[in-house]
Amino acid sequence: MDDIRVSEQAETFRKLATVRRIKDIKPIEGADLIELAVVDGWQVVVKKGEYKVGDFAVYLEIDSWVPTTLAPFLTKGDKVRTYNGVNGERLRTIKLRGQLSQGLLLPTGCVPGIVDEGQDVTELLGIQKWERPIPAHLAGVQRGNFPSFIRKTDQERIQNIPGLVRASYENRERYEVTMKLDGSSMTVYAKYNEDKTELDIGVCSRNLSLKLDQEGNAFVNTAKATGALNAVKEYAEKTGRSLALQGELCGPNIQGNSLALDDCDYYLFDIYDIDAQRYLPPFERFNVYKEMLVQGATFRHVPFVRTNAFLFSANIDKLLEMAEGKLPSGAEAEGLVFKRVDGQFSFKAISNKYLLAKGE
Ligand code: AMP
Ligand code: MN
Repeated sequence: MDDIRVSEQAETFRKLATVRRIKDIKPIEGADLIELAVVDGWQVVVKKGEYKVGDFAVYLEIDSWVPTTLAPFLTKGDKVRTYNGVNGERLRTIKLRGQLSQGLLLPTGCVPGIVDEGQDVTELLGIQKWERPIPAHLAGVQRGNFPSFIRKTDQERIQNIPGLVRASYENRERYEVTMKLDGSSMTVYAKYNEDKTELDIGVCSRNLSLKLDQEGNAFVNTAKATGALNAVKEYAEKTGRSLALQGELCGPNIQGNSLALDDCDYYLFDIYDIDAQRYLPPFERFNVYKEMLVQGATFRHVPFVRTNAFLFSANIDKLLEMAEGKLPSGAEAEGLVFKRVDGQFSFKAISNKYLLAKGE
């Protein structure tokens, strides 16, 4: 991990199951049968004596959908749960004997063939990323797949990249830190064709492009009502740039509506430069956003915690602690997203209090 240059964010997102080295084994007070195993920034409760420091093991992170055939012991009782046609269980954050336990460790023997540290065995083991389905009332009428010229919103978990975080801390790289809002991802874009004669505008949910001429869909309605759709179109017409606004749709009946909003609203967190195929640096994003406000748009920006700050620690647990907090509604805040000021590296720190409170 340490030899990966910090500027090159590895495409680690889909790696839910990887071969990792056991970094530490810690006893649990008063427990004879279990202990804690540490891999990267994660800790997992395991059977005592099953692993030693330095051993290889397969680590499955939280939100893995684990086939019953791989880990039958996860199924409690006889209730069969299915995701995309596969019987299995979703890995959640739990507390055992007062200890946080996240994910699952399996002996390397579960993988046929030779294994290497860092090897991605997600597909091999049939692991899927569990994603909360978009509720029916939000789904709407689809126009097509998510456009291939825009990156889907996603953030790497800080626990997976302790080496990159430490290097970034030591290099005194600067970050924008924003609050992570717990709604539904929404992308609003305007894209020119190659000879710039036609402008295509669109609204997308996390994984789909939506029909613009439909009524009663919260994504499409909010993109119109907050002026986001108009803003990205006018900005393209004025500058010739093809951009995609990416933000969180929040409001009644979306997740737990932890902001306690009366109406849907849109909170910008990124702008993707379609021409350059990269995210705008945070300061550039904010300048474009302000210009859109001046032109009459009313959508919001996710709340800023810091705008140009060094990581205050290289310690993952400390940064995770920083991610904990309460919202004005009294709900646990989901966490923070750290974006390096060049816009080329980012990660999320999800509050463990939030995960435990939500049973995730
Ligand atoms: P997750 O919700 O765990 O899948 O984490 C990634 C998602 O967080 C992205 O797809 C966004 O929809 C969402 N998100 C919420 N707030 C932010 C933020 N401040 N910065 C970036 N992404 C965010
Ligand atoms: Mn989310």
